[in-house]
Amino acid sequence: MKKLDLKSFDIKELEDIMIRIDEKSFRAKQLFKWIHGKLINELDETTVFSSQLKDKLDNRYYIGNLKLLKKFESKLDDTIKYLFLLEDNNIIESVRMKYKHGNSLCLSTQVGCKMGCDFCASTKEGLVRNLSSSEILDQVYKIKKDINEEINNIVLMGSGEPLDNYDNVIKFIKLINSSDGQNLGIRNITLSTCGLVPEIYKLAEEDLQMTLSISLHSSSNEERKRIMPIANKYSIEEIIDATKYYIEKTNRRVTFEYTLINNINDKKEDAYKLSKLLKGMLCHVNIIPLNPIKGSELIKSNYAKEFKDLLVQKGINVTIRREMGSDINAACGQLKSDYMMKL
Ligand code: SF4
Repeated sequence: MKKLDLKSFDIKELEDIMIRIDEKSFRAKQLFKWIHGKLINELDETTVFSSQLKDKLDNRYYIGNLKLLKKFESKLDDTIKYLFLLEDNNIIESVRMKYKHGNSLCLSTQVGCKMGCDFCASTKEGLVRNLSSSEILDQVYKIKKDINEEINNIVLMGSGEPLDNYDNVIKFIKLINSSDGQNLGIRNITLSTCGLVPEIYKLAEEDLQMTLSISLHSSSNEERKRIMPIANKYSIEEIIDATKYYIEKTNRRVTFEYTLINNINDKKEDAYKLSKLLKGMLCHVNIIPLNPIKGSELIKSNYAKEFKDLLVQKGINVTIRREMGSDINAACGQLKSDYMMKL
């Protein structure tokens, strides 16, 4: 029988396990604190459990443990990129970015991705599999131990579409927020989606105060279809309606990500159309300079400043994302594919 990963369980589920193996249920909270507070990798690192209890757990359970494969440190800023090896030999990447307000981690939620965005290296091999909540958590735990500093913010913006791995992502958010674990505020978590409309509505009902970030990248459905296949399934209007519903339910300001691509979405009309779409919404636009991936014909636009100014004139809140770690291959999924090609 395949052993189950204790890191993916909440306290209630650990209580059920303790009862099943004839142990007192209060042991569950102790175990949770060791795994998610003290960040142990082995049951043997605990000091409060009898060897019988550990043996009983060992028979059917283990604690998930990502292996650090490689680490790339930027010489330009404090960005660090990590490649982690999963138990089944798949590889994922995560990034630590250091800002004035602290450490921000960009995490992967899937191995690969099936969404097919044209500007993204993570999707080139399609979706391999979902990450478990333990595998998403362990990216945080391993980086926290490595840098020996607190983690202040998390963005689910690495490889994978978080809402395509809905249950494990929600579980991850609840586990990282637990006051018996890392106690990271849900308001410090940003979930980025390419616009899975039914899941945005579902997320709005979760009563979680996280920041939603929509990868819009275009203000026209036809143009969006050229770079994001998901646009064939959900129109921009449907995404905007779902986002408005999310804002209404959570009262949280939403971010729209807009990767500026030469001659595709960087024209004046694009900015005007975008401002019309977003008018009156509690939102903010983040313009992202394209980080070109190998084999793609898409080119970075030089009009980020002009595009921003047009939106600002129309009353939209806008920032241009600072390029970080550009010397260590910052494009999403690029690091992993480069590493694999060298194997
Ligand atoms: S940008 Fe995000 S949703 Fe699109 S293919 Fe890449 S990982 Fe998937």
